[in-house]
Amino acid sequence: MIKEPMKAFAKLFARPSTKDRLESAKLLDGYYYMQYTKLYVYHIKSKLSRFKPNAQKLIFPEEEICQEIDGYVKAAVDYMSPAMAHKETSTYHGKILTLDNAKKLLSLKVDLNAPNLPESIIPYDLARDLIINGPQEICVMTCACREISETGCYPREVCLIVGEPFVSFWMEHNKLDHPRRITQAEALEIVQAAHERGSVQMAWFKDAMANRFYALCNCCSCCCTGMIAHKYTPSPAFAGTGYVAQRIEEKCLGCGKCVELCPFEAITLVDDKSVVDYDKCMGCQVCQTTCPNGAAITVLDPAKGDPLDIDYIVENLQKDTGGER
Ligand code: SF4
Ligand code: SF4
Ligand code: SF4
Repeated sequence: MIKEPMKAFAKLFARPSTKDRLESAKLLDGYYYMQYTKLYVYHIKSKLSRFKPNAQKLIFPEEEICQEIDGYVKAAVDYMSPAMAHKETSTYHGKILTLDNAKKLLSLKVDLNAPNLPESIIPYDLARDLIINGPQEICVMTCACREISETGCYPREVCLIVGEPFVSFWMEHNKLDHPRRITQAEALEIVQAAHERGSVQMAWFKDAMANRFYALCNCCSCCCTGMIAHKYTPSPAFAGTGYVAQRIEEKCLGCGKCVELCPFEAITLVDDKSVVDYDKCMGCQVCQTTCPNGAAITVLDPAKGDPLDIDYIVENLQKDTGGER
């Protein structure tokens, strides 16, 4: 018997028919992604690792596998991944959030319906809907990117799924990534701690999730699969926060902490002062949060795109659903 979370997920797609093969393929892609997240990410990371110098050794997640399932999941990844190479065709990408905007998103109390976000916020042609049904429904699960890496960092419980029908699907169908329902207050603690460790808050959008936002991840530069795509391939896997880092020179102690923690390797020390590479900076604010002397700040920069700011979106981009979801 088909379970309710699967029915609810299938309803997000046009009814599959022979005319609508693309919708059927997306639905299947989403099904395999949610049910076998670690295995799915393993196959993406295996493809991407060849681009990264000294890539981490990967661990095949044997516990989930029979050969047939592995074949289906690999086929889903093979189907989806070539499109990621260009912003015009990408169906799976991340928008980096400032800590403040991540917290606003995780504090929403009512549904949000902002389809087709402007290109200044999500600079991709596809998968750009911020539609959140039940924003207080959140589950945390183990980070697939870290779990499949031999030297994966800790802690692992940092991957947040937000809203329905996604949370119910993961809870019902995915036992292997250990999803656990949490409150918004717990989610806020997780992002705060992750940001202070130097992780980046990432809102993920995917066509196989009905073109929507569905996850708020806390990504590290050592293990994140998306980071490999972003930094080592021509593929624009992420959009920045809309901010860029600057230095208050007289306050910089030259301690190098920001050089070590910047997830995008955008900072170097020159004559004992930190210097930001404007092009590499994604405005994640890790340097701002962790600088011991308040020398690192970030400022809005229109050339870097617009922030994903829930207050602005609710006020200006929210559409009336007319009772439809
Ligand atoms: S995207 Fe980030 S939090 Fe999510 S699984 Fe990968 S590294 Fe972990
Ligand atoms: S962490 Fe702060 S004080 Fe240290 S080098 Fe970076 S900007 Fe300068
Ligand atoms: S320079 Fe600062 S804001 Fe820019 S990417 Fe690095 S840590 Fe993030």
